[in-house]
Amino acid sequence: MITAGTVLSVGFLVAFLLAVSFLAFARWLSARGSLAPLTAWGMAIAGSAYSVAAGLPISMAIARADPLRAPSALLVLLPWAVGAGLFLHLRHRDKMLLSHALAASLLAAAPAAVLGVAGGTLGGTHRNLHQCYGNLKALAGATRDYLADRKTWPSQANWVNELLPLVGQRSAFRCPANPDGAYVYRRPKPGSSKDVPVFECVHPFLAKQVVVRGDLRAAIENLPPEPPPRAAHSPFSQTRH
Ligand SMILES: [Zn+2]
Repeated sequence: MITAGTVLSVGFLVAFLLAVSFLAFARWLSARGSLAPLTAWGMAIAGSAYSVAAGLPISMAIARADPLRAPSALLVLLPWAVGAGLFLHLRHRDKMLLSHALAASLLAAAPAAVLGVAGGTLGGTHRNLHQCYGNLKALAGATRDYLADRKTWPSQANWVNELLPLVGQRSAFRCPANPDGAYVYRRPKPGSSKDVPVFECVHPFLAKQVVVRGDLRAAIENLPPEPPPRAAHSPFSQTRH
């Protein structure tokens, strides 16, 4: 089983090897004289492109494995920042201060830091969506068992307590993306269509929703497109959020 620790270690190794190869290549160019027109700031901009390319996929992979690790995913930038700083310091030893080199390497790492946080957030959001799907799948299964047993749907007023023994854990009744709010259950009315959602959870950031309809199958669906605003100027129109 791949753990977050494994991903983190491999991520470190890959980032370190990429940083070393990038710096070796830059040194080689520099030795040939091809790098002469590049200033320290030019190096920093080139390093930004590198750090985005190397840092983002790694930090996303780490965040996908465990969203709690998302901030630590930024550590993959460390080898690059240190390496860039040292390289710039050595290359411009006579005309550049170490503080300049450190500033340049921080600049190089900044875009990847921003994208790393974004990637980490996105990874955590995806993980929440799949946990939510797992929860609603469990609630759907429990509802199916309840129906088979009692030949009636769980009651609207007491459904949580009725399903709890069949689900086993209270955490399944809340979406991890919204731990303050429990899922809403809509007890199907006699003769109502199987398309009517029984459980439904909207994840607007990903434009996805998790739905359990009357057939008690859980599914992740794209959010339907917003209906065109009608009578937007009417004082009676309601805005939905
Ligand atoms: Zn949800």
